[in-house]
Amino acid sequence: MDREAFRDMCRAFAQREIGPRWQQADADKQFPRDFYVAAARAGLIGITAPEEIGGAGLGTYEEAIAMEEMAKVNPNLAVSVLIQNVAGSILYEHGTEVHREMARRNIAGECLVAITVTEPEAGNDIQNVRTRATRDGDDWVLDGIKSFITLGGEADILVTLAQTDPAAGRHGMRFFAVDRHGKGVDASQIDTYVNRPAPTYRVMFNQARVPDARRLDAGFAAIMAGFNRERIMVAARWLGHMQTALDWARDYATTRHQFGRPIGANQSIAFSLAQAHVDVEAARQLTYHAAERWDSGIPIEQVILDVSTAKLHATQAVVRVTQTALHVAGGWGLTSELPAMRWALDALVAPVTVGSVEIQQRAIARQLGLPVE
Ligand SMILES: Cc1cc2nc3c(=O)[nH]c(=O)nc-3n(C[C@H](O)[C@H](O)[C@H](O)COP(=O)(O)OP(=O)(O)OC[C@H]3O[C@@H](n4cnc5c(N)ncnc54)[C@H](O)[C@@H]3O)c2cc1C
Repeated sequence: MDREAFRDMCRAFAQREIGPRWQQADADKQFPRDFYVAAARAGLIGITAPEEIGGAGLGTYEEAIAMEEMAKVNPNLAVSVLIQNVAGSILYEHGTEVHREMARRNIAGECLVAITVTEPEAGNDIQNVRTRATRDGDDWVLDGIKSFITLGGEADILVTLAQTDPAAGRHGMRFFAVDRHGKGVDASQIDTYVNRPAPTYRVMFNQARVPDARRLDAGFAAIMAGFNRERIMVAARWLGHMQTALDWARDYATTRHQFGRPIGANQSIAFSLAQAHVDVEAARQLTYHAAERWDSGIPIEQVILDVSTAKLHATQAVVRVTQTALHVAGGWGLTSELPAMRWALDALVAPVTVGSVEIQQRAIARQLGLPVE
């Protein structure tokens, strides 16, 4: 399937499967699990996974297309797919046959997974992860608290970063595929203003036993590599969201009349939308450029500048563009009768997660050769 046909397929999927679901999921703050099953059936879980475990064997470029098209309809059901694809790739890229079987089931729509890294004291500073995994015979015993885990309540497997050897610092960290339904694993929802259709949880490990066979031979370096690919998907997610906000604001500005003419006939409104268009187009070029470079197979160190540039721009631009749409909507924008406020609220998480704005600025500055810490 060529890229345009793939985009058409993703767009049709998003309209069919996200369109009718997202508003109820947003109001209920509950993830519709049947959406995950539908995404798996459509081949959107495991887009870059190898075909022998059921994946589509496509590239990051196609993954970005899927993310953009889904996020155009709703960025939060889209992020549930993003998480499957990132956590799933940790399982099949760094795991044993045990983990590859989990990834196969994940791709088949039978095993929802969650990335379980962040902690109350380890946000951007992942090296500070304190969840402790202690060896006990053939098992590991996990103790600790994770925070902001998207789908942490609904997932079957928590792909969890824990400290196995505190003396070794970040080199002592390993991932574990933890059974969410196992003894000693609990989750409670965190009430956020964003991401409501894909809720976030506090996850508690209290003497949770995990067989050694579920330990991955992947630690800090593996997550950083995975996070870089995730950042391209994050950029694509916000690209889709801002495109929708811009299209909507343009239509509103041409149909809403005040003083006997469309509000878009005023230069101040028209020019703000022109500026938003520049933000959207720049996000598109940067995102797909980073995806193309990633897929070319060059070493990750040579793609970091492209990835961080794309992510930084998209996560800042989506705030600007959705604020513009909100402003264009006037007083009605502040009601639930129009979608502008929901979009503006959703966008506020963009500069925060998967390495905040400042973390991307630091990465870019280092790539430019600046002696920043
Ligand atoms: C809705 C949502 C969903 C999430 N989903 C997941 C998930 O599925 N799995 C998961 O593991 N995590 C998840 N996260 C966690 C997310 O990635 C973290 O919130 C993020 O890493 C920020 O951590 P923090 O909130 O502790 O902020 P902090 O790290 O405390 O940062 C606070 C502020 O300080 C700034 N700052 C921090 N360090 C520096 C520095 N060195 N230089 C300059 N400024 C700095 C930051 O940019 C930010 O502005 C999610 C978060 C949210 C809000």
